[in-house]
Amino acid sequence: MDAKPILQLVGVRKTFGSFAAVDGIDLDIREGEFLTIVGPSGSGKTTLLRMLAGMEAPSEGVLSLRGVRINDTPSSERPTCLVFQSLALFPHMTVGANIEFPLKAKGVAAAARRERALALLDLVRLPRSYYGKNVMQCSGGERQRVAIARALAHDPEILFFDEPLSALDYKLRKVMEKELKDLHRASGKTFVYITHSLEEAMVMSDRIGVMQSGRLVQVGAPEEIYSRPATRFVSEFMGEVNVIEARRAGGVWRAEGIGELAITLPPELEAADAVAVVVRPEFLRFVEGTGDADNRLSGEVFNEYALGSRIQYQVRAGARTFLLELSRAKAWRGEPGAPAVIGWDARDAIVVPLA
Ligand code: ATP
Repeated sequence: MDAKPILQLVGVRKTFGSFAAVDGIDLDIREGEFLTIVGPSGSGKTTLLRMLAGMEAPSEGVLSLRGVRINDTPSSERPTCLVFQSLALFPHMTVGANIEFPLKAKGVAAAARRERALALLDLVRLPRSYYGKNVMQCSGGERQRVAIARALAHDPEILFFDEPLSALDYKLRKVMEKELKDLHRASGKTFVYITHSLEEAMVMSDRIGVMQSGRLVQVGAPEEIYSRPATRFVSEFMGEVNVIEARRAGGVWRAEGIGELAITLPPELEAADAVAVVVRPEFLRFVEGTGDADNRLSGEVFNEYALGSRIQYQVRAGARTFLLELSRAKAWRGEPGAPAVIGWDARDAIVVPLA
């Protein structure tokens, strides 16, 4: 996608006293994209979103909408709308009245309001019969849809979402993730979404931005962030991993407690003498008999966890513990405590700077 930016951030910072919650962000948000900002608690996601939505002004830097500086433009004057986790629906009103609220404020006539509200119910996949239902009689997931329909009734160019699914149970969250993705496509709007949940980000987004201590450390397509994390922090944030610190001496890579390692270096690290080798649990495998792998270690399996369709094993090898994952269909048949040889190919490991 090479759409032009709808929102642009240049050197954006937000300080509270001497503390920088957002510490210099440059970012182009593309028109029509679904961009998700992920990061651990306290990394500055909400502060960033509050600036984008006009609820806080940046302390430094420039925020512009289609090339026009909007640093101090209040949220009511921006073509944007924010959907929260706590939905702020009007509890004493019907679903229809909630959705129509922004239209009423604009003076849209009753019949047209109703028609638009019904179309929005279709879009968020609620039955039209919900129009007259009180919102308090709706389930959590249904209320979430009403809130999104109401946000869309503003006809914003950009929708911001602040962890909107975090109060929902797992199953409903999974359904809503896919629906939000469909809704994004159907609405054609720009979505900017923040979450702690990597899974949510992976399922829905065109691009993911990863925040660490107020900075955006990597922005890219989900597959790129997953397969080619720029730093150890990003690789560790993107799921459980095995990280092996390795050092080169005399042309040979070695890791403490393991010994010699076969490593494929990315071009930008060709000159490095110390790196972190990240092996995702799904790229580690049991190497049977004559089976081959660039790196092989002998150890023993000492724990096994069922993760739904996958099984995770803890394997002690070379004075360290590795995580290895297999699909249930390919489960390892050995007994706990049994010796096992594990291995991985150099091309399946991700090599990142050590720091
Ligand atoms: P979470 O995922 O827990 O919501 P977050 O990534 O959204 O976290 P922010 O809420 O943006 O993080 O907070 C980033 C940092 O800025 C935190 O250390 C927080 O305590 C601090 N912070 C946020 N708002 C203020 C404020 N109004 N005054 C002082 N410090 C603040």
